[in-house]
Amino acid sequence: MAKIISGKEVSAAVKARVREECEQLKAQGVVPGLAVIIVGDDPASRVYVNNKKKACAEVGFHSEEFALPAETTEEELLSLVRELNERKDIHGILCQLPLPKHLDEKKVIHTIAPEKDVDAFHPSNVGQIMIGEYRFLPCTPAGVMEMIKSEGIEVSGKNCVVIGRSNIVGKPMAMLLLHENGTVTICHSRTKNLKEICSQADILVAAVGKPKFVTADMVKEGAVVLDVGINRDENGKLCGDVDFASVEKKAGYITPVPGGVGPMTIAMLMQNTLTAAKLLTGC
Ligand code: NAD
Repeated sequence: MAKIISGKEVSAAVKARVREECEQLKAQGVVPGLAVIIVGDDPASRVYVNNKKKACAEVGFHSEEFALPAETTEEELLSLVRELNERKDIHGILCQLPLPKHLDEKKVIHTIAPEKDVDAFHPSNVGQIMIGEYRFLPCTPAGVMEMIKSEGIEVSGKNCVVIGRSNIVGKPMAMLLLHENGTVTICHSRTKNLKEICSQADILVAAVGKPKFVTADMVKEGAVVLDVGINRDENGKLCGDVDFASVEKKAGYITPVPGGVGPMTIAMLMQNTLTAAKLLTGC
């Protein structure tokens, strides 16, 4: 039976560390500030934004929500971002995605000042991650790495397989594993022999967006299996990309859904906001 890596526990430890550092910053007159922009009324986005605000309160940050109506124009949104770029009390800016279709997500991401881009989506931050000289790491892959480290799992020299090649999860995930000297394979929708490749992985990260996609026959005995997926199963219950019930019996370590990578993403956002506050204030 696999050991479960609890995102609840690891994220609590990250947030405790952030809270402590936040106290030290406050003693120097700096309160880390995060601005969260939400456009429209997507229920999933609303839940994510509420969780982010709650986490800010937990660690002692100042947070401000900007809830804009779905019919907001691009110029209105961009001018808000520009305004926030200039504010001294705001150190991190994030715009909850997805945006309504008439708004260009790329333009918004490009307008956020890179030094306040706590999601690490701006091309300048993405480029810095590529060369290993980064301010921020994208929250979800960083959270996965934190979970691996929390168990003292060595990445160096291991066969690492990432299923998924999105800009926010799959690609940066592969890069972070590479930075830790893993031998990394990225699989995607056009990959042939997926099962064969996955079953050689010592560390397997699933970021596909398909419920219970990774089954036990795709997993090597004793592998470390990290499940990024957030899906609903046939009964409407929250589940990951990994068939937890069968894979748990074969893997060495596994992350659950819920209570796995999800809470880590928010904890790493807190970490990034703290980093931004320190860099911007020189504290
Ligand atoms: P995405 O849709 O952008 O990317 C999915 C990837 O899966 C693609 O690169 C695609 O090539 C690959 N894929 C699709 N079908 C495949 C197949 N049959 N075989 C192999 N690969 C296949 O999704 P994303 O934004 O990367 O998110 C992935 C999942 O992670 C989703 O369930 C999402 O909700 C979840 N997610 C969770 C968090 C978190 O905090 N836990 C954060 C971001 C995303």
